[in-house]
Amino acid sequence: MIIDIHGHYTTAPKALEEWRNRQIAALKDPALAPRVSELKISDDELRESIETNQLAKMKERGSDLTIFSPRASFMAHHIGDFNTSATWSAICNELCHRVSQLFPDNFIGAAMLPQSSGVDPATSVAELEKCVKEYGFVAINLNPDPSGGHWTSPPLTDRHWYPIYEKMAEYDIPAMIHVSTSCNACFHTTGAHYINADTTAFMQLLQGDLFKDFPTLKFIIPHGGGAAPYHWGRYRGLAQEMKKPLLKDHLLNNIFFDTCVYHQPGIDLLTRVIPVENVLFASEMIGAVRGIDPETGHYYDDTRRYIEAASLSDEERYKIFEGNARRVYPRLDAALKTKGK
Ligand SMILES: [Zn+2]
Repeated sequence: MIIDIHGHYTTAPKALEEWRNRQIAALKDPALAPRVSELKISDDELRESIETNQLAKMKERGSDLTIFSPRASFMAHHIGDFNTSATWSAICNELCHRVSQLFPDNFIGAAMLPQSSGVDPATSVAELEKCVKEYGFVAINLNPDPSGGHWTSPPLTDRHWYPIYEKMAEYDIPAMIHVSTSCNACFHTTGAHYINADTTAFMQLLQGDLFKDFPTLKFIIPHGGGAAPYHWGRYRGLAQEMKKPLLKDHLLNNIFFDTCVYHQPGIDLLTRVIPVENVLFASEMIGAVRGIDPETGHYYDDTRRYIEAASLSDEERYKIFEGNARRVYPRLDAALKTKGK
């Protein structure tokens, strides 16, 4: 079985974006505020948006199940206030839930949180609970920078974030550390802000001792871990100077990297530098990079090819494709086992 742990609903019907545009317009003129009930998307529309996109590509490329969350760049936690984010995240999460109901063998949800810049993360707990208890979601996406590129929140190791971590520990769900769109012109959203955030999150966790307080907490650093694997020597050296334990003891029981790295040498490096137990298959397909690589003739985000071509044993490949995901997402494993998988 091949589990893709990083998929977003980037192909949702246009009505969703139109509703969001009205919600944003209403921040200036509240009379324009759309009601949630005004957003109407039928099951057929959902089915079509998936069957012609993600599901078609999953079949072509041979992946079976995708952990599916709302479109990350559309979370835009910097827009409006908590109520703006709460309404928007509830809508987006419900759509992912409906997709997971329509295609129960192919999609399982991960929640977007109603984070809002400058607002206590404890306010996100109710939506998190609903998504786990009512929707059967198996993970969350946690935005370390709800300001959208201005980095006004404390580091992830700060007690500020503990209400989220307490719930994660209680439900045994991991978080993918995932920023949203950048509203800072210095940082291109997917080319700079995403990769910066991955690297920044890793370094924050290295500097702190968060996993002493939360030994079971699990984070996935997406996009191959940003710069961390490439600069592993730098991080080992910094940890040494800071009198931290070896990275394998300090971080690697709790931090995992996905394979959203869009060329063979990057995957070769990732799987050579990072223990295979800490690498999880993902493509983030129909996401940041949608084109075909002229050097290979294949889609950049067809990451399965790179794992197949990497120098790995069958056992190691099994861990990356399936085994690690079952370990890091215990609720996913449980859901699969109830289906006899
Ligand atoms: Zn993503």
